[in-house]
Amino acid sequence: MPTTVGQVLREELDLALREPFNELLAHMYTVAAAPEDKQRLETWLEILRLPEDNPDNRALKKNIIDNFMSVVDLFDEFPSVNITLGALIELLPKQKPRLYSISSSPLLYPQHIQISVGVLQVKTDAGKVRQGLCSNYLAELEVGAKVRIGVRTSTFRPPSDPDAAMLMVGPGTGVSPLIALLQYRQALLEQGQHLSNATLYFGCRNHSDFIYQEQLQSW
Ligand SMILES: Cc1cc2nc3c(=O)[nH]c(=O)nc-3n(C[C@H](O)[C@H](O)[C@H](O)COP(=O)(O)OP(=O)(O)OC[C@H]3O[C@@H](n4cnc5c(N)ncnc54)[C@H](O)[C@@H]3O)c2cc1C
Repeated sequence: MPTTVGQVLREELDLALREPFNELLAHMYTVAAAPEDKQRLETWLEILRLPEDNPDNRALKKNIIDNFMSVVDLFDEFPSVNITLGALIELLPKQKPRLYSISSSPLLYPQHIQISVGVLQVKTDAGKVRQGLCSNYLAELEVGAKVRIGVRTSTFRPPSDPDAAMLMVGPGTGVSPLIALLQYRQALLEQGQHLSNATLYFGCRNHSDFIYQEQLQSW
């Protein structure tokens, strides 16, 4: 399927610098034009070849990971590195799908899927704010926007014995699949079916994170 360079960089490649990154650094070393960049890349590579428990190895990885360095940050760090798109496609991992639990029951919403997403924002030790890719992408979508999704069948089911009591624990967005179960129970109740007892334990740090408050309190 035809695509654009922008789309490859935005959607296909994972630009977060995730381990192992030695191959990427080794390629950057071969194409770095400035001697000082070459020198520092060589030092980084030497350090990364040391045993995992070596303090220099640990410190370098901590610096890269704790600061959530991305491939873009790496290019800022080594400005004379001129890397081709072809090399990037070979060296970077593909973007992975993010999984979200469906929080609606098809009995109540046969044509819709609802999800509940925590918008991930992390402050690094250096004080920079890093945003989770997919959760922030979803949070910024306009109503009516189209997104690429796939739906997987889950093995998460209510008990097969209709008289079995249900004890559910779902803090934060972990409540998502349980909301689907509770909607399922609501649909059964509306059909006049007998329901077993169910208890849900839910927790959140702030009142503003009390998702599904109205729905939960109405049940
Ligand atoms: C079975 C399952 C069900 C789930 N259900 C839900 C749900 O219902 N609701 C929900 O909100 N979430 C759910 N999740 C989590 C969800 O899939 C995502 O992981 C979450 O939304 C974060 O994705 P993101 O793209 O926003 O963040 P990402 O960009 O993937 O970042 C996630 C983490 O990756 C690391 N990271 C990011 N960038 C870097 C970097 N440059 N260097 C090093 N590390 C980095 C950080 O630790 C960061 O916290 C579920 C996960 C699974 C496996």
